[in-house]
Amino acid sequence: MPISKSEAGARLGVKQPSIDHLIKQGRLDVVSVTTSHTVKDKVTEKSLYTELAERHRLFGNALSLTDDSEQCLCGCGAKTNQGKYYLAGHDQKLEGIIKFFLINGNSLDHQLAVSLAMSRNINIHALLTRGF
Ligand SMILES: [Zn+2]
Repeated sequence: MPISKSEAGARLGVKQPSIDHLIKQGRLDVVSVTTSHTVKDKVTEKSLYTELAERHRLFGNALSLTDDSEQCLCGCGAKTNQGKYYLAGHDQKLEGIIKFFLINGNSLDHQLAVSLAMSRNINIHALLTRGF
């Protein structure tokens, strides 16, 4: 059953503009659902759970990487150019994943997210107060 954008946002811990951005990027799929007097775009369950699974996969990979790894530290598995820790923009991708686990995770997720953020010199307070 398709899920409203606000429910999808609550599950992913993001606001409406981020849901729209994920849809635009093709990471979330929408279907039009017609009720008695309105037509609404809703997020498909499959795409929501694919996005959740991807966040868990990246988090798991990122936890096992160290600064001397030749892989992008976001956990995407890509190789970086000499001396770089991240592919362009993937440091923000990692921040988004960490934020997701800080907001939505259980207590173990929180501990792991905090330790991952500290190991990457990511300011958790700045992360949580920034609106995206
Ligand atoms: Zn990456």
